[in-house]
Amino acid sequence: RKRMGCAVYDPRFDAEAGNHDRLSLTGELRQAVEEDQFVLYYQPRLDLASGAITGAEALVRWQHPVRGLVPPDQFIPFAEQTGCIREITQWVIGRAFEQCARWRASGLALQVSINLSARDLLDPELPQRFAELLARHGASPQWFLLEITESAIVDDPARAHDTVTRLHEMGFGLSIDDFGTGYSSLAQLKRLPVAELKIDKSFVLDMAHDPDDMTIVRSVIDLAHNMGLSVVAEGVETDEVHQLLHDMGCDYLQGYHICRPLPVAQLEPWLARDAAQ
Ligand code: C2E
Ligand code: CA
Ligand code: CA
Ligand code: CA
Repeated sequence: RKRMGCAVYDPRFDAEAGNHDRLSLTGELRQAVEEDQFVLYYQPRLDLASGAITGAEALVRWQHPVRGLVPPDQFIPFAEQTGCIREITQWVIGRAFEQCARWRASGLALQVSINLSARDLLDPELPQRFAELLARHGASPQWFLLEITESAIVDDPARAHDTVTRLHEMGFGLSIDDFGTGYSSLAQLKRLPVAELKIDKSFVLDMAHDPDDMTIVRSVIDLAHNMGLSVVAEGVETDEVHQLLHDMGCDYLQGYHICRPLPVAQLEPWLARDAAQ
């Protein structure tokens, strides 16, 4: 099992960090964007109906020159607070569009899921910048699912709704990430043009042994289907959970039981082996 994370504790990653620390980390993140220190890993998603891998979620990591591979939970929340998430999202989107166009050109029709943060949806220029990046990389919006969280909608429902609607009109698919952990009302969700609900791993990880989790997962699957949406479960770590979700009629699975997030150089041989099986 590959070890990820910081080798050395860095107090600047602390939410309580002082002003000086915050400034220096913000500077480092900006530099990281300019110097291409980020890297995208991709986690395959399994389509239970066909048994094939039909998609992958792009997950960013920071390849830090000193600290090694830093996981997103250690810099994304900070980047959201300080506003440099805008540059990071721009980098992620550009890279994911480019990679997906390359896969399509080689005959690999993966749908790529991309995470947006709450703050991205408050940026009125986001759809225009996405359009420019699509054109630059010769990518089609139908190749992508944009994952947004419930909190993004709660923060400023009117503006988030406006951005989401514009992205939908451009042709992007939309998915509600971490479903069940936020506080959005079902009425708000109903008004959004989403195609998919993604059940948060906190309900999935232990569902085989926790009757409450099992009930929640079953309810979300039924809710999604009754609303005409597809549903994906993340955090599938065991064969038992895989089987339960299959029997409950879940559409897609993601998790270590299927595959960990991998860099492209490892993902491509994994996909080739999987397809040959
Ligand atoms: P998320 O979007 O909910 O992504 C799922 C997380 O669960 C990922 O962690 C993934 O590696 C991990 N995971 C996948 N399968 C399993 C499993 O079977 N068991 C367990 N325990 N975990 C599993 P990761 O890559 O560390 O990302 C953490 C979070 O950082 C993401 O949560 C997402 O909110 C955020 N993030 C990642 N990449 C981006 C990005 O490009 N932009 C933005 N805005 N946020 C990102
Ligand atoms: Ca996600
Ligand atoms: Ca999640
Ligand atoms: Ca998330």
